[in-house]
Amino acid sequence: IFANVPQAPPDPILSLTALYRSDPSPNKVSLGVGAYRTSEGKPYVLPVVRTVEQQIAADPTTNHEYLPQDGLSDFNRLSARLILGSDSPALRDARCVTVQALSGTGALRVGFTFIATFMGPRHVYVSKQTWSNHRNVVPQSGLPPTRDYSYFDSTTGAVNIEAMLQDLRAAPSGSVILLHGCAHNPTGADPTNQDWQRILQVVKTNRLIPFFDNAYQGFASGNLDTDAWSTRLFVNSGIDVIIAQSYAKNMGMYGQRVGALNFVCANPEPVNAIRTQLKATIRAMYSSPPLHGARVAAQILGDEKLFHEWEEELLKMSGRIKEMRLRLRDALIANGAPGKWDHIVSQIGMFSYTGLTSQQVSFMQEKYHIYMTSNGRISMAGLTASNIEYVANAMKDAVHS
Ligand code: PMP
Repeated sequence: IFANVPQAPPDPILSLTALYRSDPSPNKVSLGVGAYRTSEGKPYVLPVVRTVEQQIAADPTTNHEYLPQDGLSDFNRLSARLILGSDSPALRDARCVTVQALSGTGALRVGFTFIATFMGPRHVYVSKQTWSNHRNVVPQSGLPPTRDYSYFDSTTGAVNIEAMLQDLRAAPSGSVILLHGCAHNPTGADPTNQDWQRILQVVKTNRLIPFFDNAYQGFASGNLDTDAWSTRLFVNSGIDVIIAQSYAKNMGMYGQRVGALNFVCANPEPVNAIRTQLKATIRAMYSSPPLHGARVAAQILGDEKLFHEWEEELLKMSGRIKEMRLRLRDALIANGAPGKWDHIVSQIGMFSYTGLTSQQVSFMQEKYHIYMTSNGRISMAGLTASNIEYVANAMKDAVHS
């Protein structure tokens, strides 16, 4: 009875990790998956996360009871405050519904399932270059396959805002527009603040539904408020906005699956119905979310001293990434690799969109055991002082050949 199940195509990001692991070369470098690494190339547990985990472990009153479908209430309240800001009119007027989710992906999945059930069918537009899983989550949630809006201009290395706005104007009213709140993955190119104002105008005029994917708050600029700027601009304009949040990168809790989904409503009337339906959706999907990571995050978000420690950590992590950008750019200039490399420094977030072609990517993998996605995206966190020259020289060789 299972004979007709076709094999699924490999996930472009996760299959790279498997290839990297099975490569016996001592020189191999992993620049695929977007997980932070220390300057020694090791996974990193934030000290503030460790501290809280130890406190939790030492507390004899801690238990492992089920959470309600919508998760830990303190975590939800504090998550909404983190993304919307403590002075948010939406929070003051109780216009925001927040549910805990299985990290960013789970938030997207619950959000799109809700849209398919209560607002569907309607089209979802994603930026032409986007995190590959967006194109899986949307149709798996019961919506039509995604449509693209123009985004990146490879000649300038920046957002092609005119082309983007033109596509948003042409989208049917009521379409959902998936936006990366900051640190666009994979291009590292974000709209400017002025661009965001123009995007908002088109979203309003064309009555589009903005769905913000915020997987990198605090990780892009190092500042939590700066990285929430675009989301807050939309929310504070008084329209309905949906927001997915992830604590995978900014708290380094990748495997704990800590995230949240927010429905911010223009007026408070639908809030109760949305809350009950989100809970019902979650109940049928996985009943309730996991406890540990949300408990850790809630303690950090709710305690002034721990929060401050976290902010310092964010500055350190984003600082190391910025330093690697400078060093890679400088190494490519110093070794004479043909081409312009300033985009490596101007891009923001975890990734750099190098401009390498898929042939050049294969060449680097085969000859140098350096792994990156075929679109030429590298995870800056995979670079260290000991491998950066090697990577820069391999890039030079790839561009030459
Ligand atoms: N959105 C984007 C744009 C991402 O880059 C990621 C992580 N790679 C996610 C969402 C979700 O990740 P997670 O489910 O681990 O929070």
